[in-house]
Amino acid sequence: MAREFDPLVGICRCGRTRFQVSAPPLITAACHCRGCQRMSASAFSLTAMVAATTFRVLEGEPVPAGVQGNGLAHFCCPHCKSWMFTRIDGVPEFVNVRPAMIDDPAWCVPFMETMTAERLSWARTPARHSYERFPSMEDLPGLMQAFSDHLAVNGGVP
Ligand SMILES: [Zn+2]
Ligand SMILES: [Zn+2]
Repeated sequence: MAREFDPLVGICRCGRTRFQVSAPPLITAACHCRGCQRMSASAFSLTAMVAATTFRVLEGEPVPAGVQGNGLAHFCCPHCKSWMFTRIDGVPEFVNVRPAMIDDPAWCVPFMETMTAERLSWARTPARHSYERFPSMEDLPGLMQAFSDHLAVNGGVP
């Protein structure tokens, strides 16, 4: 039997918008692309990919953010504009939440990193899998399995 999983709660900077994730994320990642650098105002973005069925907004009404119409639907808190989660067009089964919103910082540890071709020269992460661009959709199930195995031996955290 799997252990009970305490839901993760993500809270924006001002506290008006909250989301909940009721099962362990499927994988965590850092993205080094220039778009993520601009969007996050930092060296890279952090993601925890979760099953859409385990995700819900608890409080607030997140509004669209970032570049619109490039296949990614980003959402932020309407008040403080914190970037909170992203939905991918045509892939409704997953939501990419920003783990920096979650109280437990463990979920910020990236298991894989993407777009290292655009990585800032000094930026390093502890990711175990590294991609110059993105893994293919065919690679994803294997990566998720590896992440799940990793959680199992690492006390349930990345
Ligand atoms: Zn807010
Ligand atoms: Zn990116």
